[in-house]
Amino acid sequence: MRQVNHFMVDGAASSAGRKHQIWNPSTGEVQAEVALGDAVLLDKAVATAKKVQPAWAATNPQKRARVMFKFKELIEQNMQELAELLSSEHGKVVDDAKGDVQRGLEVIEYACGIPQVLKGEYTLGAGPGIDVYSSRQPLGIGAGITPFNFPAMIPMWMFGMAIAAGNAFILKPSERDPSVPVRLAELFVEAGAPEGLLQVVHGDKEMVDAILDHADIAAISFVGSSDIAHYVYKRGVDNGKRVQAMGGAKNHGIVMPDADLDQVVNDLAGAAFGSAGERCMALPVVVPVGEDTAERLKEKLIPAINALRVGVSNDPDAHYGPVVTPEHKARVEEWITIAEQEGGDIVIDGRGFELQGHEKGFFIGPTLIDNVTPQMKSYQEEIFGPVLQIVRAKDFEEAVKLPSDHQYGNGVAIFTRNGHAAREFASRVNVGMVGINVPIPVPVSYHSFGGWKRSGFGDTDQYGTEGLKFWTKVKKVTQRWPDGGGDGSNAFVIPTMG
Ligand code: NAD
Repeated sequence: MRQVNHFMVDGAASSAGRKHQIWNPSTGEVQAEVALGDAVLLDKAVATAKKVQPAWAATNPQKRARVMFKFKELIEQNMQELAELLSSEHGKVVDDAKGDVQRGLEVIEYACGIPQVLKGEYTLGAGPGIDVYSSRQPLGIGAGITPFNFPAMIPMWMFGMAIAAGNAFILKPSERDPSVPVRLAELFVEAGAPEGLLQVVHGDKEMVDAILDHADIAAISFVGSSDIAHYVYKRGVDNGKRVQAMGGAKNHGIVMPDADLDQVVNDLAGAAFGSAGERCMALPVVVPVGEDTAERLKEKLIPAINALRVGVSNDPDAHYGPVVTPEHKARVEEWITIAEQEGGDIVIDGRGFELQGHEKGFFIGPTLIDNVTPQMKSYQEEIFGPVLQIVRAKDFEEAVKLPSDHQYGNGVAIFTRNGHAAREFASRVNVGMVGINVPIPVPVSYHSFGGWKRSGFGDTDQYGTEGLKFWTKVKKVTQRWPDGGGDGSNAFVIPTMG
C-alpha cells in the first residue's frame, strides 16, 4: 500500500503510529495510507522551522521572489501530474483539478511581487528633523490547516503569502487527500527554498490541537467547516495567536425576471454540480424572483440537469465525479431525504445512483429540489453535494433578505440585465463576496478572499493585501539624527501636526 508521510527534515514517522486510509472515490477502494502525527512530531517540525526562519526573513525580498518564480515554473511543468494525483484522491475531474492548482498558482504569482507589496510607508519630516517609517515584518512561524476540497489551492493561498513575507510555514492538510500538498512541498524545495521552511505534518484533531497549543506558532490560518473553524478560532486566540478561520457556506444565486435564463442555467449547471458541489463557492441555492421566473427557470433547468454526465474522475467527458468518501455520500443522501421529509419537492433525485462498472464508487446523481423554504433545516445547513435547491422569492426585497439572513455569508450571485438592481443588491446584501452575472465570484489573487458571518472568523481575508496583513506585523520607527551641536536645539520634540 502506498504510504503518505510527513514532509519534514527530521522525523518523518509518527511516534504514535496511527494511520488514516485514503480512498479512490471513483473505485471505492483504499489506495493509500497517511501517517497521523502528534504533538511530539509537531515539536520537531517547529524546532526545524525556528532554525531556518531567521535566515529566510533576512534574505532580501527579491531573492525570496526568485524562489517563488521558480516554484511557479515547476508547478506549470508538473500541472498534469499534480492534477491527476489530486483528482484520484479527491474525485473531482482532472480539468477541475487543474483549476484547483491554477487558482493556487495565481497566489504564487502574486507572491512573486513580494518586493513591491512589502514596501513600507515613509514620512519625511514628520516633526523637526524627524522621519517616521512603517515596515511589515514576518511573524515567525505560521501554520495552515486546510480542508479536503481544494488540496492545492488553499495550501498555496496560505503558504505562498506567509513564506514570501518571510515566515516559516507548517501545513496540516486534510487527511483525506494529503498527497498533493506533499508534492507541492517537494517542488518548493526543488525551486530553491531552504529545507524545513515549508513542512507538511499530517493528522487529525490531535495534530490540530497540538498546533493550536504550540507556544512557538504565531499565527494560524484555517479553512474548513464552521463548527471546527469556530473552535480553532477560539482556542487559537485564547492561546494568544493570530487566527483567521474560514468556514462553511450556502451561497445563493438570485435570478431576476430580466435575466438571460439560458446563461443562468448554464452557469448553474457548473456552479451547483461542478466538483460534485464540494466547493465553498458553489451555488447550491437558486432564488428566482417571481413565480413566472421560477416556472421558466425550472423548465430550462430540468433538461440541463438531466444532461449532466457523472463519471470517474479521469473521464474527460464527465461533468463531475464522485464525492470524497462513503460517509460523505451517505450524509448528502440523508440531506436529500431530510429535504423531502420537510416538504421539499424532489424534482430530480440523485439518491441511489450507480455508475455502471464502478458500482462501489461514491457517486451521487444530480438532484433538484423545489419549493424549499427558509424554515427547512436542509436550507439552513450546508449539504456540500450535487444538490440544487430552489427557494422562490416573491420580490427583490425578499431576494436580498434570504442570503442576508442566512447563517453563512461566503458568496452570492445575482443574475440580471438591470444595472441598478445589481448595484443595489451588491451594496446591501450581507455577504462577503458578490458576483454580478458571475456564478462563482472568487476574487483574483491581488484582491482577497473571505466570507462573512459563520463563513469567516477573524478579521482578515486570505491572500492579496489582506493575506499580507495577516502574515506580517507592522513595525513603526520614528527616527531622528541629531547633528550633535549640544546647544539644546536638538532636544527631543514629539511630532505634532502643527
Ligand atoms: P473539516 O472541517 O472537516 O476539516 C478541515 C480541517 O480540520 C482538516 O484539516 C481536518 O483534519 C481538521 N479537523 C477535522 N475535524 C477536526 C476536529 N474535530 N478538530 C480539529 N480539527 C479538525 O472540513 P472539510 O470537510 O475538509 O472541508 C469542507 C468544508 O470546508 C466545508 O464546510 C466547506 O464549505 C469549507 N470550506 C470553506 C472555504 C472558505 O473559504 N470559506 C473554502 C473551502 C472549504
